[in-house]
Amino acid sequence: MAKKKAAKKTAAKAKAGKRVYFFGNGKAEANAKMKALLGGKGANLAEMTSLGVPVPPGFTISTQTCSDFNQLGKKWPRGLKEEVAKNVAKLEKAMGAKFGDPKKPLLVSVRSGAAVSMPGMMDTVLNLGLNDAVVAGIIEKTGNARFAYDIYRRFIDMFGDVVMGCHHAHFEAALHKAKVKAGVENDNELTAEQLKVVVEDYKAIYKKDVGTMFPQDPMVQLTHSVNAVFGSWDAPRAIKYRQMENITGLLGTAVNVQAMVFGNMGDDCGTGVCFTRNPSTGKKEFYGEYLINAQGEDVVAGIRTPLDLKHLKKDMPKAYKQLTALMTKLEKHYKDMQDMEFTIQEKVLYILQTRNGKRTAEAAITNAVDMVKEKMIKPAEAVMRVTPEQMDRLLHPHFDSKVARNVIATGLPASPGAAVGQVVFDADVAEAWAKAGKTVILVRIETSPEDIGGMDAAVGILTQRGGMTSHAAVVARGMGKCCVAGAGDVVINYKKKSFTVGKTTVKEGDFISLEGTEGQVILGKVPTVEPKLSGSFGLFLKMCDKIRTLGIRTNADTPGDSKRARDFGAEGIGLTRTEHMFFEGERIWPVREMILAADDYAALLTGLADTECKKEAAALNKQYAGAKKQFEGALKKLLPYQRKDFVGIFKAMAGLPVTVRLLDPPLHEFLPQEVANQKEMAKRLKITPKKVQEQVEALHEFNPMLGHRGCRLAVTYPAIYRMQARAIMEAALQVKKTGKKVLPEIMIPLIGSVKELAIVKADVIDEIQKVFKEKKSKMPYMVGTMIEIPRAALTADEVATEAEFFSFGTNDLTQMAMGFSRDDAGKFLGEYVKQGIYAVDPFQALDQTGVGKLVEMGVKLGRKTRKGLKCGICGEHGGEPSSIDFCHRVGLNYVSCSPFRVPIARLAAAQAVIRNK
Ligand code: PEP
Ligand code: MG
Repeated sequence: MAKKKAAKKTAAKAKAGKRVYFFGNGKAEANAKMKALLGGKGANLAEMTSLGVPVPPGFTISTQTCSDFNQLGKKWPRGLKEEVAKNVAKLEKAMGAKFGDPKKPLLVSVRSGAAVSMPGMMDTVLNLGLNDAVVAGIIEKTGNARFAYDIYRRFIDMFGDVVMGCHHAHFEAALHKAKVKAGVENDNELTAEQLKVVVEDYKAIYKKDVGTMFPQDPMVQLTHSVNAVFGSWDAPRAIKYRQMENITGLLGTAVNVQAMVFGNMGDDCGTGVCFTRNPSTGKKEFYGEYLINAQGEDVVAGIRTPLDLKHLKKDMPKAYKQLTALMTKLEKHYKDMQDMEFTIQEKVLYILQTRNGKRTAEAAITNAVDMVKEKMIKPAEAVMRVTPEQMDRLLHPHFDSKVARNVIATGLPASPGAAVGQVVFDADVAEAWAKAGKTVILVRIETSPEDIGGMDAAVGILTQRGGMTSHAAVVARGMGKCCVAGAGDVVINYKKKSFTVGKTTVKEGDFISLEGTEGQVILGKVPTVEPKLSGSFGLFLKMCDKIRTLGIRTNADTPGDSKRARDFGAEGIGLTRTEHMFFEGERIWPVREMILAADDYAALLTGLADTECKKEAAALNKQYAGAKKQFEGALKKLLPYQRKDFVGIFKAMAGLPVTVRLLDPPLHEFLPQEVANQKEMAKRLKITPKKVQEQVEALHEFNPMLGHRGCRLAVTYPAIYRMQARAIMEAALQVKKTGKKVLPEIMIPLIGSVKELAIVKADVIDEIQKVFKEKKSKMPYMVGTMIEIPRAALTADEVATEAEFFSFGTNDLTQMAMGFSRDDAGKFLGEYVKQGIYAVDPFQALDQTGVGKLVEMGVKLGRKTRKGLKCGICGEHGGEPSSIDFCHRVGLNYVSCSPFRVPIARLAAAQAVIRNK
């Protein structure tokens, strides 16, 4: 133990160089670049001082010292005491004042300040240096006893509460008692005499809570306060904040000791906060508020309503003029919107702090665009000023942040936005209620393609199970609809039409609110705020487009989605999932007819393949004639539906490439799972319910994700893909005839072997040739594949001999590479992330070290065979910023994502270029 301590001491000593940096009278020992060592505040105070801004002088103790202090078991490292004393002496000289001198007392503030802003997380002490003698001296000098006692009582409160652990409530109670006794409402109505009594009460409280007298020696006060600021770095709230905001790798907080200036010495004094531009709209205007005769915390505390900055022009014209000139100067210097704190003491203006101002998403975009127009910054800098999260927030409604939320459960933030509606548990009910004018939230254990109508009708979707690429999540994102998925604490009872979370029960018809960006389930209605897209939004995205090299496509299945995505800037479709084209309205019935004949039809095909005997073949054809007619007849019925869908999509995307993926899900997904629906199917297709049930059971799979789906369906039933290929090309030729350019790309899903692709592709091409012959017209097209099975990535050089393009299906690739079921991993992935096994949910952000290697390898091997092979991504990761950065680095040609994520992808792709330069 002793050895360990000694080692720590040596380490601390070895690291220790200069620990304290002075600033004052136009000179500073540091500058803005020294944020890591002096914190943002300290570095900026030094910088401002050198710039000639009127900053009260002071000194900053380094973040390294905080680290050493905490390592040494909350002790000052050797040499610090002397360095602090030296700087106090310097400060005394600069101010012409002395610690504890009643005639000319030096008073200081002690503030924390890390390299990254952590608002309100750590401690501040004001008016340090006050004691009985100094207070008497101030009264004698200024004749303002009220002011002297007021700052003294504030100091005892702050020092007691923040530094020594007294209860602030005790001080509050004493102040309240004094106000009641005086018959006044506000602190500033207490007289000097009354405040003098408050000071004595506060000292008594201090003694009772701390056990010693309130210290009269300013050096003792300073030492304790520095310790408190250093110690607050490790306070639970600060640790939590850093975790929440992902702040890592910092040494600690710096301590800023600065001469006090007073905004509360009378009516020629004041204090305020100002922004160089409007932080909520981004408008270029001076913005801020202030209070006359007040100290900084009065503005924040909200006891008195501050005045709009523009009134200062009349109240104190000289100070206003000086302040606005400084605002312009500092913004120009830092090349960003500044958030400044100022104090006016007896008409003299001081700037206490400046930093890059926090702003809304709307303001971030407006600022970025305006500053480029003003030639303050270059487009590349502007592009880095807006985060993808801000862009995301802009595109969806959000909850009014001023309204409290009763969060009853949390799930995965599957699709952003905010939704308020009445709970329903059934997709049909959702549709019926929506038709009747109600706003509904569809609550399901998990969703399936059967629920699509209800999902469309609902304003938000909540599921008990499922992950970030579950059906609910993918579909909701595509629809731009808020979704919270995998909220395990929500226990749904379909029979009772209710769900419970602990002791809370929510019934059908009750209102809930969903917050899809944080994954919150909230009881009752929370007011929402609609997004506003300003003109700057389009200009900003155009700036991104000029920088990015990745193409941006969209995942869209309907003409409506395609158009929306195009309006958002999509340069084509990277994935049209065709399964919904089997589901909508009436078309589900021929699909089900087809499925009922599927077994016999497959038996016929196998039989015919196995025999060369004509007689045997004829017998087989006779035996299965009914099944053949039913199967192929059903596909014929489907053809016009699909053709119409494709015509709509090709028109909406005229001139841009459209990748259509052929049927992917297993057939059982098209059969009704619930008994009532099975009965309906039996009635409709004129068969027994038993037959339906038998077929459902026959198609049951233990692990459908690894079952009979994707191109495997086409190996068994080539007619399905043939019908789809025909529908695509007939539609393409039809649209081409109208003079529009169509660029169809047919995509075969789920291949694991080049042979699978070769077989399926041959059928597809054969059918397309037939169409060309029949229509006496032809056009260019491509046939490519998804890379979503690890074996396809590992053998991508072989696959590329057949594939004319690759699109990485990273949803399945993640599922299969990591062995996590897309629909079940939600149950435990949260714990995995919490324990740091994986930094983030791999279905949300691409696992670059593992799954990413397969992508990288796929691209390299594919392009080895086929030079310049077009490679894209169409998994959900295609809209996630860190994954987009990865896609840029491994040289993909484009990313494809849901329409609402297209603007985010445009930004993220531009940022990837700048970041990786
Ligand atoms: C994928 O697997 O990444 C993909 C896009 O296909 P789906 O999500 O439809 O399986
Ligand atoms: Mg897939």
